[in-house]
Amino acid sequence: MSVELALSAVARIAYLTSDVVVDSHPALPSISAFASVYSNLTKASRHRNTVLSAPFGSDPGSSILRNQSALTSFTTESHSQVVTRLVLHLAEISVLPVVLHLAVKDDLSDVLLLRSAVPYFLLSTTAQQAHDNALLAARLARQKRKAVVHVFYSSKDAELLEEIPEDKILPFLLAASHLASPSSSSGHVTPLNGHANGHNGVNGTNGVNGVNGVNGANGHTNGKALNGLVAADEDTTVALFKGYESAALDTLTLVKRSLRPFTTRGASDAQTTIILVGKTNFTAEVDNVTFISLSLLNPIPPSRLLNAIPETVTRVIVFEQVQRWTTKWTPIYLEVVSALQHRHAEQRPIVQSGILGEHVSLPDVLKLIQHASTTSPSTRLTLGSSPSPAAPLTNTPHVPKHEAAYTKILSHLFNERLDIANSPSLVPSQGDIATSPEFALGRVRGQLDQRAQLVAAVQELLQEPSLDKELHSLLGKWVLAKDDGAKSRSLGASIISALESTKLTHPAIARILSLRSQFPALSRWIIGSDAWSYDLGSSGLHHAIASGLNINILILDTLPYSARNSGDPHRRKRDVGLYAMNHGDTFVASVAVFSSYAQVLQSLLEADRYNGPSVVLAYLPYQSEDVPALNVLKETKLAVDAGYWPLYRWDPSKEKRGEEPFSLDSDAVKNDLKAFLDRQNHLSQLVRSTPQIASEIVSSLGENVKEARKNRAQQSYNDLLNSLDAPPLLVLYASDGGAAEKKAKRLANRAKARGLSTTIATLDSVTLESLAEEEHVAFVTSTAGQGEPPQNGRKFFKSLNAAALSGEQILKKVHYTVFAMGDSHYWPRPEDAHYYNKPGKDLDSRLEKLGAQRVADIGLGDDQDADGSETGYKVWEPLLWKALGVDSIEVTEAEPEPITNEHIKAASGYLRGTIAEGLQDTTTGALAVSDTQLTKFHGIYQQDDRDIREEREAQGVEPAYSFMIRVRMPGGVCKPDQWLQMDQIADEHGSGTFKITTRATFQFHGVIKRHLKPAIQDINRVLLDTLAACGDVNRNVICSSIPTMSKLHRQVFEFSKEVSEFLIPRTSAYHEIWLDKKLVAGDALKDKEPLYGEFYLPRKFKIAVAVPPTNDVDVFANDLGFIAIVGKDGELQGFNVAIGGGMGVTHGNKKTYPRTGSIIGFCTPEQGKHVAEKVIIVQRDNGNRADRKNARLKYTIDRMGLDVYKAEVEKLLGYVLEPARPYTFDRNVDDFGWHTGEDGKHHFMMFIENGRIQDEPGRDYKTGLREVAKVHKGNFRLTANQHLLVSDITDENLPQIKSLLSKYKLDNLAYSGLRLSSSACVAFPTCGLAMAESERYLPVLIDKVEKMCEANGLRNDAIVMRMTGCPNGCARPYVAEVAFVGKAPGTYSMLLGGGYYGQRLNKIYRESVSEPEILATLAPMIKRYALERLDGERFGDFTIRAGYISQTTEGKEWYDRMGGEGQYREIAAAA
Ligand code: SF4
Repeated sequence: MSVELALSAVARIAYLTSDVVVDSHPALPSISAFASVYSNLTKASRHRNTVLSAPFGSDPGSSILRNQSALTSFTTESHSQVVTRLVLHLAEISVLPVVLHLAVKDDLSDVLLLRSAVPYFLLSTTAQQAHDNALLAARLARQKRKAVVHVFYSSKDAELLEEIPEDKILPFLLAASHLASPSSSSGHVTPLNGHANGHNGVNGTNGVNGVNGVNGANGHTNGKALNGLVAADEDTTVALFKGYESAALDTLTLVKRSLRPFTTRGASDAQTTIILVGKTNFTAEVDNVTFISLSLLNPIPPSRLLNAIPETVTRVIVFEQVQRWTTKWTPIYLEVVSALQHRHAEQRPIVQSGILGEHVSLPDVLKLIQHASTTSPSTRLTLGSSPSPAAPLTNTPHVPKHEAAYTKILSHLFNERLDIANSPSLVPSQGDIATSPEFALGRVRGQLDQRAQLVAAVQELLQEPSLDKELHSLLGKWVLAKDDGAKSRSLGASIISALESTKLTHPAIARILSLRSQFPALSRWIIGSDAWSYDLGSSGLHHAIASGLNINILILDTLPYSARNSGDPHRRKRDVGLYAMNHGDTFVASVAVFSSYAQVLQSLLEADRYNGPSVVLAYLPYQSEDVPALNVLKETKLAVDAGYWPLYRWDPSKEKRGEEPFSLDSDAVKNDLKAFLDRQNHLSQLVRSTPQIASEIVSSLGENVKEARKNRAQQSYNDLLNSLDAPPLLVLYASDGGAAEKKAKRLANRAKARGLSTTIATLDSVTLESLAEEEHVAFVTSTAGQGEPPQNGRKFFKSLNAAALSGEQILKKVHYTVFAMGDSHYWPRPEDAHYYNKPGKDLDSRLEKLGAQRVADIGLGDDQDADGSETGYKVWEPLLWKALGVDSIEVTEAEPEPITNEHIKAASGYLRGTIAEGLQDTTTGALAVSDTQLTKFHGIYQQDDRDIREEREAQGVEPAYSFMIRVRMPGGVCKPDQWLQMDQIADEHGSGTFKITTRATFQFHGVIKRHLKPAIQDINRVLLDTLAACGDVNRNVICSSIPTMSKLHRQVFEFSKEVSEFLIPRTSAYHEIWLDKKLVAGDALKDKEPLYGEFYLPRKFKIAVAVPPTNDVDVFANDLGFIAIVGKDGELQGFNVAIGGGMGVTHGNKKTYPRTGSIIGFCTPEQGKHVAEKVIIVQRDNGNRADRKNARLKYTIDRMGLDVYKAEVEKLLGYVLEPARPYTFDRNVDDFGWHTGEDGKHHFMMFIENGRIQDEPGRDYKTGLREVAKVHKGNFRLTANQHLLVSDITDENLPQIKSLLSKYKLDNLAYSGLRLSSSACVAFPTCGLAMAESERYLPVLIDKVEKMCEANGLRNDAIVMRMTGCPNGCARPYVAEVAFVGKAPGTYSMLLGGGYYGQRLNKIYRESVSEPEILATLAPMIKRYALERLDGERFGDFTIRAGYISQTTEGKEWYDRMGGEGQYREIAAAA
């Protein structure tokens, strides 16, 4: 058996017998062994109860009291702190139906403390006994409504365990008792009267022996002895004991094993009795000795003991497994002594006590008997040896690995100045106490006293007139610099060596030398866990805070946000931050390293600088050491964003300087913190300094939202009243991409126009119960993934399916019809055809099954129809009107036309809209919906945190809105001062990190509304902007980074800039809104957009400039690509022009597809910008403005024909383009490593995984790049693969840059070829379109695929692997050799066969794969590639040659022959 056998058996019984289980967690990093059993049972068992976890350090007794039920169980692995805390509440608990299961290893010292305070105390020494006693305890506690302590050993012994099945447990608990309840404490209770069952030789058992039924007291002495002795038992003891016997008999009938209060073995005429309390391996018999093993430690009726101890005995030795008992006699020893007082004086044996070891041998027993007779009765004896006697003080406690995230920062910041006053390394020498705050405080106090003495001694010596000048100067300097970490140390060292060699004699010198260790000024820290915060007083935390000493306390709070409710809600730990702030003179900071690294650094430095106590509360959510960092990150984000863990700093010293002491570093603040700020009247100061912050803190956003909702509800109510006479219609929709939603909204509008009282909602917003009350319902649903319902309908489908199974006709009142939307060609295999419109069809049949009446046949919208789903819709809608009797109503008023982006653009006043007004509105974190379309043109996307969207919805507050800002930076080139500014903007306005995007520019996330304008202004301050970084215009023009070709790079970079400037929108709205420049006089808008016009382009437009042989910009993925043609003389001759590339696709919509650009000719550098302009004009005038999904240039070209399009462009140019010239690409990955350009300048291309610039523990890239930027004199080039080139480094600057790159590990390129060639878009949590993880997941997937590559010798082979969170394709997945495109959380389309240098599209290989399928698919493929590839053959080419996938020759054929070729297609079909 494993160590868990007894423990899991007890946990199982605790779970199955209780209504509430309170599980006490051990100190981290250990995790509760009980918890895993509970979590398995939650899934496997039908029994439902509440499992609460009591964190280590909390007060478990009060949790039990607050959670009383028919039976409450408490489970813990015994720890003195837990047991001590239980004692506090035992008096109250003892009269409740509670079982306290305590697992012990080898020592009962702690648990025996509880014995006298509870009515029942059971001890189990084997797993089987633990199982049976757990049942007995549950029955006893439930029936007698009394607390039972059940202590059991969790050991590694192998043994068999027979468990009672779950279905028998509840009947057992509820069944009537086999014994009548004790009527009262009569004293004459049948079992105890012992009807002389007699003495069964040495095997006599006591109590319920299961042999003779209710035997009551057996014994050596029969009735004769009992008559005199029962009087010795107190009434209460008798009553309790009878209760035990009754429950034990009931348990016996269930388990078919006897349960006895104690067992005896040995001779009935023995001289010695050894009473054993604890677990031992000794089972042999010894002449003249009777062994009594106790399993019921309370109550122990004296009569029972007397019965068990033969009258012949002259010596009784009570052995207990107590290694750390502090008083002379143990309670059980005293009970034995007291019981024996009932014997005649001359019959009374000597009673001795001793400590029982687990390993006892026969010689041990023999030696003991001999030894006992020769020693004084008061000497404590020992029997056997214990595997682990007293806990040795030699082990250094384990520090959980996640905590290194903070401890590393401390060592990094303070180096040798760091002194951790309660460091675990002190434990071996000082004992466990060394980690407690009291100890640390005492230590610091002592050290500070010593330092004060040192200062006094130095000052005394300074008074000495004969002191030599140099020493005087050193001492003087030290006094001045004594608080400076570095100076005080170096001056101290000089003073010590000067004093050691001085001839001067002065009493202060000896004192100074004896205090030499105090010369350096240290940064003193106490590090502890949140367990301290459960009891500020006894943990010593209060004393540290109140001490006034210059001490820093770092408290790690590890409770994950998502587990915050698993603890007893009434026993929350104290808010140490608030507590300390209330103290007045304590610096307090609340930080979270995985949310804002910069804020952690700032807080720790400020805490160190603060002259007084500082408390830094650090959030580090993890439940076990195995939790991956990604989870810690997610939990942190949730906690910070939801306001559960606000980031702030409170510096009382600022108040004295007239500054605001409170800085809120995150956007949400807790209510109690807000209340504190209000109470302290700091708010008025806040109002004075930053009115907008104050108003946001005071006026709760939530309140405003509620108010707005109330108004809206009132409005809806009024509308309802107005249309009461019309038949009601509820339109319910489920939609992922928005098409079904659009259709449902249009249907609702048309219904209103026909006088129907119409409401519209998503499927998931209704319950079956509320649906049952509706009269007419029209459903509209699209089809997701593998025929699944869309996301916002899944909950509803689940309950619908469950209800359909039950067969109840709960929807009889409902009249319904369904319109389903899907694509009949989406699934290439005939056997998958049933997925077509499956959700709609399922819905239709399930509703019917539930009794609803179909009023019109299901409508089927097929993307393959001539007019898409509209074809089927046109047939279906009239059926609905007919069924509702409104088909003859003439709709006179035009139905409200849906507002499209085209309307918004045209009505925006050249991109103004109401953005400026929206920015002023502090009641919401969002902008108006139409404005959010316009801000894209300004480089700004409104987003909300997807991780906490549901959470916030449940809280009734609006989503956590923030904005993404994208910089326009043509060619991806920036100066060091611009880099520094970006770094600062990320810290001050964004999420603390920033990203290099696939458009080779900077992107900031998490910018909240009030920070938008300052952030944009800061960007403009360094001569960059965000205008046209997104939106339906030409976006950032990108160009190859080509480190070695210096001159050429200058030319293509200048070309990119020129094209970008030439095509920039001319509106002055950007300057007006963001830069406060009133360029347009008065209110009359005089803006003009000569190129774009007021409608701008139908869709976005992207331009790239590539320099062969590198295609690092993926030129064919752009609407317009310029491929540089260089003459033999190395001069730029011009560009081949490629048009019509584009990535975006919509899942399941075959009208959408990716396309690679088509080359239409050659132009000179001078012609380039005009060619771009004309290509744009033709698209502007011919692009599809009615359907944004079909609006990109690629579709326009395919619709018009390439030749026609080209001719249109040439017509506008007034000349014909020259024929394209030859060129060769050979790669699209970046050229990593060092390069020297033709001009002798150096460049280093570094690998930044997915472009994320951030500091992580052990990888301070953001800091490192900031340091590089501070000294770098050249440029930075951002690449479209999201990496970074530190460029144009001079010889002179080279060593310094190299050393910084090395210091911050930025020069690390020791990655696999796969990783170096990988790329992922942002996706979750910020991208509103993400369907699956991308940036956060691809590195994890690569870890796994990399291993396959390594195993097949492909570590250094580049395989271009890309991932995006949705089919929009920001990371250009459709030209990757392998790609994964998100469909739903954890599910991706898998694509294969892209060209290695971006020349060929890939194709869908598998529609829906999750990680196991990805790995299972790739493993054999990679192996085959390693074995069978041709010389130089690339993975993408190989997958086509090997037949895994067919080649995509052009975008329009992208869907042809999807899903593999030949046998591979068959394999997929068979799967
Ligand atoms: S590909 Fe999709 S998920 Fe990824 S960033 Fe672009 S829009 Fe968002």
